Amino acid sequence: SIAALTMGVFAGCGQSVEEQTSDNGANDDKIVIGFSMDTLKEERWQKDRDVLMARAKELGVEILIQAANGDDNKQIAQAENLISQGVDVLMVAPHNAEVAASIVEAAHEEGIPVLSYDRLIKNSDVDVYVSFDNEKVGRLQAEYITKLVPKGNYVYIGGAPTDNNAHLFKKGAMDILKPFIDKGDINLVYDQMSKDWQPSEAQKHMENALTANKNKVDAVICANDGTGGGAISALAEQQLAGKVPVTGQDAELAACQRIVEGLQSMTVYKPIPKLAETALDTAIKLAKKEEVETNNKVNNGKIDVPSVLLEPVVVDKENMMDTIVKDNYHPFEEIYKNIP
Ligand code: BGC
Repeated sequence: SIAALTMGVFAGCGQSVEEQTSDNGANDDKIVIGFSMDTLKEERWQKDRDVLMARAKELGVEILIQAANGDDNKQIAQAENLISQGVDVLMVAPHNAEVAASIVEAAHEEGIPVLSYDRLIKNSDVDVYVSFDNEKVGRLQAEYITKLVPKGNYVYIGGAPTDNNAHLFKKGAMDILKPFIDKGDINLVYDQMSKDWQPSEAQKHMENALTANKNKVDAVICANDGTGGGAISALAEQQLAGKVPVTGQDAELAACQRIVEGLQSMTVYKPIPKLAETALDTAIKLAKKEEVETNNKVNNGKIDVPSVLLEPVVVDKENMMDTIVKDNYHPFEEIYKNIP
């Protein structure tokens, strides 16, 4: 049988997707797992892809990966294509939490179980969800920054409204901010989501927030490192980069560099190899119709989805060595390359 590995590769700038095919000579009883990805734009998703491919090879399973470049119709078409190739299990990291419910239906019609990868598929009978504790991500961001800045004008710059995670990050952060806001210590002066997690959107939000408040902004909670980078560019335009604390998430290399340079306060590190390996192990169990191990249930609007939620970790200047460097998530020389 032909093992067609069709992969959408984000080409850096622009929206082009390069198709790549390889044949790893699978035999017919090999387990085949399909993975429909929203995007490969953020560095982490490239890690997800790379770890999954390496781990699949190690375990002797075949994995077919497609990335939709943030396009719902494309993601549906790619998922349908994986279904028609007869995958044993379909993993989906949805661009749109609601729209992706139709992918679950299509897969189930063919008897293919679906694993929601990192992002929850809402209002569907999705079989299992493997992710991090995403509300905790938001709590960690807000806890960190309220310790630095217990009083003042706060800006919240969130992620894509189409991504369930963006709402969980925000809920976690707001749970921590609420008592400060109620007391009148923290004033939430600006609060917006960023379409498709675009750093350029986040930058515009930060510019607007600064203009509207005559630059009197004391702390910025950004939902991830991409949006954090956008906000920091806007702060830099006003000579405020490094003066106003900014949060992030993903431990992207650029964010780790900004942290050690003092431009970003923290990031939330989610060890992607752990996620990818847990998801793949879970998918293989689904394929073999074995019982899957979960540690949670998360309601998706329709059912309580059996879930595995992994622990996120705060990373700042102080523990960079003990976390990111120790895990070899990024090389020491890269993180500290701008530090004399
Ligand atoms: C992920 C984040 C990521 C964001 C943008 C979220 O669903 O959990 O890790 O930064 O999407 O891709």
